[in-house]
Amino acid sequence: MKRIAIFCIPAHGHTNPILPVAKELVSRGDAVRFYSFDEFKEKIVPTGAEYISCDRFLPELNKQQEENLKNVSTTEMSIQDIRITIGMTDFLDSEYKSFRPDVVYSDSACFWGKLSAWKYHVPLVVSTSTFAFNQMSSQYMKNSPKEIMGLIAGLPKVQKEFRKLKDHGYEAKGFLSLVQSDNSTDSVVYTSKRFQPYSESFSDRYAFVGPSVFSDKQPDKQPRPLVYISMGTVINDRPDFYNKCIEALKNEAVDVIISCGKAVDQSRLGVLPDNVKVFPYVDQLDVLSRTSVFITHCGMNSVSESLYMAAPMVLYPQTNEQQAVARRVTDIGAGEMLGDDSAEGIRAAVLKILGDNAYAKAAEECCKDFRSCSGAKGAADHIENAPNPTDGKDVIKSLNKAVITEQILYNVIVIAIAAANILFRFVDIKFLWIYIVAVVLLSEPIKGLFQKIWYKSLTKQ
Ligand code: UDP
Repeated sequence: MKRIAIFCIPAHGHTNPILPVAKELVSRGDAVRFYSFDEFKEKIVPTGAEYISCDRFLPELNKQQEENLKNVSTTEMSIQDIRITIGMTDFLDSEYKSFRPDVVYSDSACFWGKLSAWKYHVPLVVSTSTFAFNQMSSQYMKNSPKEIMGLIAGLPKVQKEFRKLKDHGYEAKGFLSLVQSDNSTDSVVYTSKRFQPYSESFSDRYAFVGPSVFSDKQPDKQPRPLVYISMGTVINDRPDFYNKCIEALKNEAVDVIISCGKAVDQSRLGVLPDNVKVFPYVDQLDVLSRTSVFITHCGMNSVSESLYMAAPMVLYPQTNEQQAVARRVTDIGAGEMLGDDSAEGIRAAVLKILGDNAYAKAAEECCKDFRSCSGAKGAADHIENAPNPTDGKDVIKSLNKAVITEQILYNVIVIAIAAANILFRFVDIKFLWIYIVAVVLLSEPIKGLFQKIWYKSLTKQ
């Protein structure tokens, strides 16, 4: 019997995958305390874990902070995460002393779970509800220049908060160590090894257990196609988009279900055509089992559930993380990006998927792959055995060494070309600035390309 402390941030997408794991641990006789928030109590209590409320540590937010969080601002989320951690210091101290956990199972974005495990030297297992991200797989995330500027501008603020952690006894190597996956930490990832991008760059400390899905349901597609539309539970206040979907599909031979979220005033969707039904929330797995095309915002859970139910997708990602998930779906051929989000564009994308069986086939293959994963049992094994034994293989370490050599070589070549030009004057010196700009701009793409080639040779793919 183990004593296991589970920590999670207040978000359904992060909490949902942990629930079957908590249930499995409880069924094995482990003592499980689940530190969460009252909004999730109803879901947590049936797992049999002891629910511990952390609501009193949630900060009062002003309008701007609320808006930033709604827009999934990494800066704002990191600052709030750190503040909550600091606010919880005394509480965590007494919990660790009284409960004395053998293992901490913490969501990857939950700083207080990770930092407290390090502080009290308890083996940590990280719960990763998205793909695992390291320097290889994060190449799937393309930040827009605006987002990069936002991140750079926000960094001093985050660093300022981060430094305060030390005064409260929390140790972290650096801010990155709090947010990125690393090969020496035990991690559970709720996807299959096949679906995880660059899966071979992750060590055997990672358990890819497949999507954490509650349902025993099998796919049950109907002759008249069902199109299901959801933008998830966070950024779902999009009546404009739902209206376009209704316009796109009202005259097609399909049934439509829209889960519009609790924030949308349904009167803004007008009089609904006969083939369209709108709900604030649905039993998504049940709906997906009957769905032929899912128009999705590409949250990791929604996409996993869709593939689990063999439903191909029209992909409409709203954040970088969702963009990465969407790219992976197109890689495996189970969906199409929605390039044009007008009513015509939506109709064309849905009809394309309905008209080409290859999408459904790709989704079916993924469905089989997901269903063959170890699931909640595999996750529970990984947690109970923490710290897990390892063969020490670390592709990222070898990759980092090779990248240092590549960067040195790149700089030597750049300097050699500049020096040769000074000596032999191939190009007028007044154009030197163009050369410098090109060198700076090309450095990252060349490094990325080099990493990909090196990764392939290291993993013989
Ligand atoms: N969900 C649901 N019913 C709905 C809408 C969403 O059960 O009507 C669930 C869905 O099954 C998924 C989660 O909410 O498990 C959404 O998580 P996801 O990661 O897809 O998106 P997020 O809400 O975090 O953006």
